[in-house]
Amino acid sequence: MSHSATSRIQEHIGDPVSNAPPVGREKLEEIFQDIQADMRYDHELNGCLNCGICTATCPAAHYYDFSPREIVQLLWTENLEGIYDAMQEKIWSCAQCYTCAARCPFSNSPGGLIMLMRETAIKHGMESAKNVLRPFSRVMLKLISTGNQLSPDMITPDGFADWGPNVAKVDAPLDLLRKAIPMPTLHTTKTAWEVNLKTSVELYTIWEETGVLDSLETIDENLFDVILDIMDEKRDDYEDWLDDQDDD
Ligand code: SF4
Ligand code: SF4
Repeated sequence: MSHSATSRIQEHIGDPVSNAPPVGREKLEEIFQDIQADMRYDHELNGCLNCGICTATCPAAHYYDFSPREIVQLLWTENLEGIYDAMQEKIWSCAQCYTCAARCPFSNSPGGLIMLMRETAIKHGMESAKNVLRPFSRVMLKLISTGNQLSPDMITPDGFADWGPNVAKVDAPLDLLRKAIPMPTLHTTKTAWEVNLKTSVELYTIWEETGVLDSLETIDENLFDVILDIMDEKRDDYEDWLDDQDDD
């Protein structure tokens, strides 16, 4: 008995109870090619025995329905539908600790491969990436507008009013934790918060040249617009500062 090609190869992938449009074969191939095209891919995937050592040592696998072995197998066997499916949720469970990379007998880096899948999910503006990154928009705004994000003494009821009474629970033990953190630059806003204009402007150039800002635009257009305004303003301030130096 012969089987038609379409009975063996799934043409589309999609949730039968969802209104989301199914994903065509071409799109699945494009996504996989984007993952493979990264120069890190060949270093991070050298074969896979399906031994499960990575999953046995993975902290995320203990808490979530997640297995680095499964992810590596999907990539190794070029299971396009499975790769796409994993990018909708599972890849975001990884803690990026790289214990798996230290243990794999094939010198694979499952955590590194997952990072490539995450970057590709962002590039393709997948909903899963938007949902995961949305809570970090304030951190990104702070990081990009000031060159720094958070020092322990910022976590106070005044600084994080939107956390409600819960912030006090974090604030209290942090008094002790702050003293224990060995890096002096992390102690206070005074020592951790100041990034000079020149450094900020250099960071903007790096983010532009490396595609960070393009990724941001894909994920959160509003945040991207706000950040562009901040960057323009800081660049103007820097130019003014340079002019002042010339005048002196
Ligand atoms: S990097 Fe990710 S997949 Fe690897 S051990 Fe850590 S949490 Fe698990
Ligand atoms: S990635 Fe490495 S450790 Fe994990 S199943 Fe494959 S060969 Fe084993």
